[in-house]
Amino acid sequence: MNVYADNAATTQMSKVALDSMMPLLTDIYGNPSSLHTVGQTAKEYLESAREDIANAIGADAREIYFTSGGSEADNQAIRSAAAIGARKGKKHIISSKFEHHAVLHTLDALEKEDFKITLLDVYSDGIVKPEDVKNAITDETCLVTIMAANNEIGTLQPISEIADICKEKGVLFHTDAVQAVGHIPIDVKQLKVDMLSASAHKFHGPKGIGFLYARKGILLKNIIEGGAQERGKRAGTENMPAIVGMAAALKDAVENLNDNAKKITAMRNCLIDGLKGIERSRINGDLDKRLPGTLNMCFEGIEGESLLLLLDQKGICVSSGSACTSGSLDPSHVLLALGVPVEIAHGSLRLSISEYNTMEEMEHIVKSVPEVVNSLRSISPVWEKIIKEEK
Ligand SMILES: *Cc1c(COP(=O)(O)O)cnc(C)c1O
Repeated sequence: MNVYADNAATTQMSKVALDSMMPLLTDIYGNPSSLHTVGQTAKEYLESAREDIANAIGADAREIYFTSGGSEADNQAIRSAAAIGARKGKKHIISSKFEHHAVLHTLDALEKEDFKITLLDVYSDGIVKPEDVKNAITDETCLVTIMAANNEIGTLQPISEIADICKEKGVLFHTDAVQAVGHIPIDVKQLKVDMLSASAHKFHGPKGIGFLYARKGILLKNIIEGGAQERGKRAGTENMPAIVGMAAALKDAVENLNDNAKKITAMRNCLIDGLKGIERSRINGDLDKRLPGTLNMCFEGIEGESLLLLLDQKGICVSSGSACTSGSLDPSHVLLALGVPVEIAHGSLRLSISEYNTMEEMEHIVKSVPEVVNSLRSISPVWEKIIKEEK
């Protein structure tokens, strides 16, 4: 049995998305900037996709900017707020310790440009405290950027409360909602966020496309110079098939959101029930305030990489740490931010499921993980030491 349980890394594209893209890869080949009929036909597809995406998150179409994905949207949002801040002499940015590297590395770069960066704690439950945001804001603060849902452990952040605080203090608020959009209800006007990043391949759309929502009135910095596409904020002929595929995928995800969430949550709970009994294991992050499909656990005495490879041999695709950190032997910065000890953080496993998974697959996971954990522990000197110390 083959089980794909790594949907936080990327998802399989939906048939709805693929079907919507085919005309753009064949007959509708115009450049939306061309004034002739062929170009203007493409332009209609482009603007209709923008409209659909705006509707899916409660935005106005003019507030949606297409990007190459979540990373670019994060970069553009943060760089834009930094530029706005710098013009007013405000060079302080607040974020959290367990953001995606697209956010953290952009902040590292800004630190070298004399910005002051405050990274808030996320505590053992993996949730930023709005109170901490409030206390960290100073007269110098130009931006707060906190993710909507964490990509490694799945915890949801109090975005609405944080947005209220930022509004009250007159500070811009951006949220990396790449793991949230299409998975939990998102309404930018209700949430009162100023900017929001999303990426199509995390909700069964194509890779290499995403969008940035920027509230009307926010002057974005153009990070690619050239033509006047995306109202002059992102030059380059639009990736039409991907844009149309993203819109179709998001529309489909939002229409089926409740049914999918119910189905996925039931499967995730089956994983929790089946795996929580494993000796010296822990579930990372708050159990309730989390995405339907993401579960992260640590197993003492073993290496997550070995766990991943042995599960792969059983046909189960999972991740240990995030895709960006796997390949390096550093433990996950997310788990360390939660206060998980380094040696335990090494034995982490992320299971992230979607509505394409089945209960039978969950049973296969629940049967296989303990087998693999036990077999790795039986040859682990670290585990042997843990057991000895216990006696
Ligand atoms: C995947 C992901 C990104 C990066 O998105 P890309 O489209 O792959 O660039 C950013 N933030 C979070 C939380 C993610 O999960």
